[in-house]
Amino acid sequence: MELSHFSKANALGQAVPPKMAEVRANLRAALEYEAQGLSVIALHGILNGRCTCGNPQCGSPGKHPIGKWKHRQQQRATPDELIALFTPSPHANVGIVTGNISGLVVLDIDNPEIVTDNKMMAEMLGTFNGPIVITGRRGGGFHAYFKHPGFSTGNFAKRLEGLDGRGDGGYVVAPPSMHASGTAYAFAEKFGFDAALPDLPIELAQMFDGGPAKSMASKYAAKALERETDAISIAREGERNSTLNTSAFNVGQLVGTGEIGRAEAEGALMAAGLVAGLDEREVRVTCPPKDPSI
Ligand SMILES: [Zn+2]
Repeated sequence: MELSHFSKANALGQAVPPKMAEVRANLRAALEYEAQGLSVIALHGILNGRCTCGNPQCGSPGKHPIGKWKHRQQQRATPDELIALFTPSPHANVGIVTGNISGLVVLDIDNPEIVTDNKMMAEMLGTFNGPIVITGRRGGGFHAYFKHPGFSTGNFAKRLEGLDGRGDGGYVVAPPSMHASGTAYAFAEKFGFDAALPDLPIELAQMFDGGPAKSMASKYAAKALERETDAISIAREGERNSTLNTSAFNVGQLVGTGEIGRAEAEGALMAAGLVAGLDEREVRVTCPPKDPSI
């Protein structure tokens, strides 16, 4: 079996793992993150002040992935894959895929003033004891790492000026990557990945796309739709049409506020009407639900 090109063999010809000091810092960090259960990707780096992608007009220097990366939202790279990825790119930056795959979400704070100007942010970050990365951005900037809350948590941008969030579908640039400013990303003193990931406070969770506000709303909407369709399907003859009208109106409110899709609502009302013994033509006369936003 061929040894991987930085592996060494002992006196018996068996492969021995390389000493960590012999491995470049980016690959070493990638392997450490992998060992901590994080999904790692390679990003273009900064060499001589320029992005290694070679485009002098690069809009995201040192921050965009080398090759395809989205499958790393489902499957983490193995140590061998990371070695194969980083070895030919000695200046690659290290990316960590955020979201469920790595069990984390990250707040990206480019505007240190929001820490002092926004009461909620000031309180939250004043007591924050999880990992913090200083990003190397001129003018300041840091990443605060939190535990993934277990429900769908997408990215968000600019909920407050200079505040982005990275969750499911995102990634962050991690230490020891080089920022375009020429300063490397680094963990703040004492706050490496040795620090446990803190829970994401509910106020912050609500900022993320698909956060609890939205999923609670859709749970409510699904329950309301179920209630209305039940009412239609058990309505007695003579009451069916008026029940259908009332329920279609109520469901229409949810369609109007965007809490439930029109197609889903119409399909459910039709099914309930048919169960109640109305024919398809009668249900169609009453549907679609009125849209109160029009
Ligand atoms: Zn580039």
